[in-house]
Amino acid sequence: MCGVFGAYSQSGSPVLEEVYLGLYALQHRGQLSAGVAWINNGIVRTKKNMGLVHEALNQHDLAKIDAHTAIGHVRHVTEGENRIENSQPLVANYAQGPVAIAHNGNFTNVNGLIGYLENRGAIFQSSSDTETVLQLMAHQPGVVPLEALKTALSKVQGAYSLTVLFDNCLIAARDPSGFRPLVLGQKNDTYYVASESCALDILGAKLIRDIKPGEILIIDSRGIISQKIPVQEQKCCHCAFEYVYFARPDSVIDGRSVYCVRKKLGECLAKNISTKNAIVSGMPDSGTIAALGLAEKLDVPFEIGIIRNRYVGRTFIQLTQRVREAGVKIKLNPQPQVLKDKNAIIVDDSLVRGTTATRVVKMMRDSGAKKVHIRISSPPIVFPCYYGIDTPSSKELIAAQMDIPSLCEKIGADSLTYLTCEDLVDAIGIPKDKLCTACFDGSYLENKPCDNLLEV
Ligand code: SF4
Repeated sequence: MCGVFGAYSQSGSPVLEEVYLGLYALQHRGQLSAGVAWINNGIVRTKKNMGLVHEALNQHDLAKIDAHTAIGHVRHVTEGENRIENSQPLVANYAQGPVAIAHNGNFTNVNGLIGYLENRGAIFQSSSDTETVLQLMAHQPGVVPLEALKTALSKVQGAYSLTVLFDNCLIAARDPSGFRPLVLGQKNDTYYVASESCALDILGAKLIRDIKPGEILIIDSRGIISQKIPVQEQKCCHCAFEYVYFARPDSVIDGRSVYCVRKKLGECLAKNISTKNAIVSGMPDSGTIAALGLAEKLDVPFEIGIIRNRYVGRTFIQLTQRVREAGVKIKLNPQPQVLKDKNAIIVDDSLVRGTTATRVVKMMRDSGAKKVHIRISSPPIVFPCYYGIDTPSSKELIAAQMDIPSLCEKIGADSLTYLTCEDLVDAIGIPKDKLCTACFDGSYLENKPCDNLLEV
């Protein structure tokens, strides 16, 4: 999972401070590194570093740079190792001029693409799948950058929401299935593209619309031109898990408020549960809104039973089991005054490895809860994601390894219930055939094998 942002000012106002703020709003989508790129006098420049946005970039220095178009990126590992060479935007000065690219997603045919390019002399500077787009562009001598980009995108498969910078031109592109979100916004004469609408809100910009699956937008001094990526139409596959967990609740994705969807997910959990002496509490912060929906539906008090230290990163986004476990210890603190003698119904968005749930159930009991019921506002995650989310392999996914009664026993809860896939789809409000639910039911989008790659 990553976040991308781009800005183009038609009046020539500097935009880098706005890109910084946009990335700040997208911090939840990646905490490993942050970077920006812009083009001055025909030369592409970049500033990027490891860490959070405010650690990696200096807002005041960026505000002084005179660039009327720029892109930015926050990174979490999907493809490629955790090192500075893989932080984005990736930049290049090739025969047709300077180019910078920022990518959210994952190319499912990256190995075939790398083999194809290396056989033709390409030397890769990073282990990021994003570089294949730059290399595919560079392997089209004499082709103008926009056409070279469109041809490159016709060769890649999988998930991508991209911002790309050429000299005096900002490009936004979303893969033909629309896996990852990408929106267009505007304030006065400046256009923005962002992974989520919350990055427009921070700038006071208005959301114009979602960028459509398979659409490429060219934003320059003429305004906005919409074209299609030259590929066959594909099944729409918006990621259902963006609504469950990844996206910020104040974002609107493909016309759906993430907040409203999460509340509905909670309402759907109001089945087969005793409300006697009960309180409902959310796992902070990802389960809070669904917990509110459940509490309202059950007519049971909503309480903050667990306090989260806000200065510790998301558990899921950290890398090793050891770090994850240490993170959980310092992150959550249960409230005995809320939990004592209660029938505690705890809502979380998902169970991935089960580490957090096991610890929380024990903490709840230690704090005096009589019963601890876990409610998960998504179906069991039993398959990995190949479309840009760093879910573990099925071996590490606890729901893939045991049935629900065994899982309930393992985490020590009195009961454990998940949502069904049907409830998930209903709550999102997008038809099942336009959603990706592959990590829940294994229904991956079929991809053509990369051996079919045509000459570029
Ligand atoms: S497999 Fe799961 S996380 Fe990945 S795109 Fe599909 S729904 Fe989203």
